[in-house]
Amino acid sequence: MIVIGGGVIGICTAYYLARSGTAEVVVLERGDLAEGASRGNAGMISPGHPPINGPGRVRQAIRSLGDPLSPLYLAPRWDPGLVRWLWSFSRFCTEEHLEHAMASLAPLGLATPDLFQALVGEEELECDFRPSGYLEVCRSVTGLDAVRREARLIGRYGFETEELSADALREREPSIREDAVGGFAHADGSTVNPSRFVTELARAARNLGATIRPGTTVDRIEVASESVIGVRIRSTGESANGKELDAGEMIEAGTVVVATGSYSGGLLERLGVGLPIQPAKGYHEDRDPGRPGTPDLEQPCLLVERSVFCTPMDDFVRFAGTLEFSGLNHEIRPDRLEQLMRSASLYFDGVQVADPLDVWVGLRPCTPDGLPVIGGLPGYRGLYAATGHGMLGLTLGPVTGKLLAEHILEGKASLPIEPFDPGRFLR
Ligand SMILES: Cc1cc2nc3c(=O)[nH]c(=O)nc-3n(C[C@H](O)[C@H](O)[C@H](O)COP(=O)(O)OP(=O)(O)OC[C@H]3O[C@@H](n4cnc5c(N)ncnc54)[C@H](O)[C@@H]3O)c2cc1C
Repeated sequence: MIVIGGGVIGICTAYYLARSGTAEVVVLERGDLAEGASRGNAGMISPGHPPINGPGRVRQAIRSLGDPLSPLYLAPRWDPGLVRWLWSFSRFCTEEHLEHAMASLAPLGLATPDLFQALVGEEELECDFRPSGYLEVCRSVTGLDAVRREARLIGRYGFETEELSADALREREPSIREDAVGGFAHADGSTVNPSRFVTELARAARNLGATIRPGTTVDRIEVASESVIGVRIRSTGESANGKELDAGEMIEAGTVVVATGSYSGGLLERLGVGLPIQPAKGYHEDRDPGRPGTPDLEQPCLLVERSVFCTPMDDFVRFAGTLEFSGLNHEIRPDRLEQLMRSASLYFDGVQVADPLDVWVGLRPCTPDGLPVIGGLPGYRGLYAATGHGMLGLTLGPVTGKLLAEHILEGKASLPIEPFDPGRFLR
């Protein structure tokens, strides 16, 4: 079986396939492991987080355009694919769809904390796993009201939260500014160093017999008589027996999982399968916790009005956020990057713009309905997709891998994956 893509989704899928003991698994990754969005995300495991589709979202987005501190940025360029995607997204911004999305995602989210605990414990993953919960911090009454509504929504689906007064919030996180108005605590949340989680889980998958080949780009998926027969690679990489693979070489397999994040649409288009996945660019800036001007955070925080996640990790504090629709590119826009620390200065005392340890961009693979794509692709036996996880790919990585492995190997997943059927976009 071939898994294309060595991000969190591909590696989790490969791990659970290999763990069954019945599958010979090969992961093909064009760069290094955790090269894409999975490298530099905020590292938050937030099981009850609802998708961004919601009533009023489009109006809110339009109002925020032009505000330099808004997390949203739409590049001024003509992109028919993006226009179609935005139109489709707007049609999914309804109360009814939000309830459907929560009902679909909740079983996966509820299974997630135990899955992470088990993986980290059983496989001894050294990935800075911290089951510390996280705080949502609000600096406006409007923001707090919105979070209250969201807490009520997710509460109905089994995710408990606790409302905190401004004082209670500062007691838990003393660096929060005096003018914060309150917030919420999510005790079920946790954090990891996301790239270490992927590379450590890849090590565990290798120990279970999986072969992982970085530096191998899949050029196309080969099919015959409506069945997958393998993939053709573009550049060279190391083969299992140590020989160089030739560009254009075919690797045979009767099962292929496409887990190439924002690049999944392009790979599948060649087979006439059009998945509406748009890249939503996000940025991070890592700061030295010992330097003046970096808030000395004890807990991860989500800065609600600015959608910036602040995550303390072993060697740095990560500030991550922004949602930029500007196509499939990794260009860093300085004003967008600035949004992170300028936003942080509104929530924490003494934030200064100083030399960051690292800056980064990554592309979230987003579907218009805010739900991932998990399952078999209609029209081709043996072809599966696991992508489109948007803001929640790290959180939903293990449960996605587990359910897809069950679906492929046993014909049935232990939790419902029908709402994520790729066919919903292809009918
Ligand atoms: C700023 C930011 C913050 C985020 N914060 C969080 C968070 O706190 N919690 C959370 O749950 N999620 C978060 N996310 C979302 C999360 O990072 C993504 O949903 C997730 O990483 C997607 O994983 P993936 O494996 O699908 O894609 P990717 O990680 O992008 O992996 C796809 C891989 O496929 C490879 N590939 C592509 N084409 C080919 C090919 N033809 N052949 C071979 N290999 C190929 C790529 O090189 C890449 O390594 C955040 C995202 C961003 C940008």
